Amino acid sequence: MNFTYEQSQPRVQPKADPNYFLHDETLNLVKEERRLTGLVIENLQKIQDSKLYLKMGYSSLFEYAVKALGYSESCAYRRTSAVKMARVMPEIKQKLNSGELNLTNLSMAQGFFAKVNADLARQKEILEKIENCSKRETEKILVREFGTKALAPKREVVQTASGDEALLHVRLKHETLKKLDRLKSLRAHKNPRMSYADLIDDMCEYMLKKLDPMKGDAKSRTAIARPKLNKPGHPHASPRYISPQLKRRIWQRDQGRCTYRDPKTDRRCESHHLLQIDHVLPVCRGGQASEQNLRLLCHAHHRLRELES
Ligand SMILES: [Zn+2]
Repeated sequence: MNFTYEQSQPRVQPKADPNYFLHDETLNLVKEERRLTGLVIENLQKIQDSKLYLKMGYSSLFEYAVKALGYSESCAYRRTSAVKMARVMPEIKQKLNSGELNLTNLSMAQGFFAKVNADLARQKEILEKIENCSKRETEKILVREFGTKALAPKREVVQTASGDEALLHVRLKHETLKKLDRLKSLRAHKNPRMSYADLIDDMCEYMLKKLDPMKGDAKSRTAIARPKLNKPGHPHASPRYISPQLKRRIWQRDQGRCTYRDPKTDRRCESHHLLQIDHVLPVCRGGQASEQNLRLLCHAHHRLRELES
């Protein structure tokens, strides 16, 4: 009998790697991960609807996601973007669950939608096109549909440098650069070798002196010591009128931050974004413009206050 070499050798089945079960286990975990992400999005939506994040002392859902839930800024951004999208397209929750869409692709698409003001029908059309696509494929589709202009977002990056310095990367219009150069020339008597960094510092000092209610020149500080406005009979005696001196005292006392506190945990908001002076006892109930009755609230907590009163 003639045997070929192949026939004469018994086939040896390679031994299955005992770690193969890890694949199935991981696959199940990924499915569970997607399901949990969908639940997180749903809960975030409920937290936004009930304004719980505001009541807990956070000025935005994003801040809540970062500080209370411990997400990184990019993770929080992707999740709050998905919440925003799910509000107008509830079907995306199901697609996130099944894996047809993922948070990265959604937030990338939302960046484009915002840039080009895409209407709802167009958004739905694009989301269908990026289903089951990788990040790179999604980017290609978005560029093909909207052009490269929408791809290049206006990025501003701040990096910590050594010591007390930071690196700031910003995209400027040529017109703005010309204005900066003009200012450098005008301030050359102060510093003939003024760098852009020196100029920005110079501009900050100037603007803060003008705009920051916590700052003020010596003349105004003298005025604090002798409040004379808002006395009965004075033309500005309205309880809504807050003199500049009183305003500054409130800003200084509250350290230029929102004073809202979570009634349960006593956590203070401390946001310094869009601060407003609020009457603790509203004017309509007899509240006065006095130091005891005034406080700083951020825009979000001022609105919450209005909604609840
Ligand atoms: Zn606040």
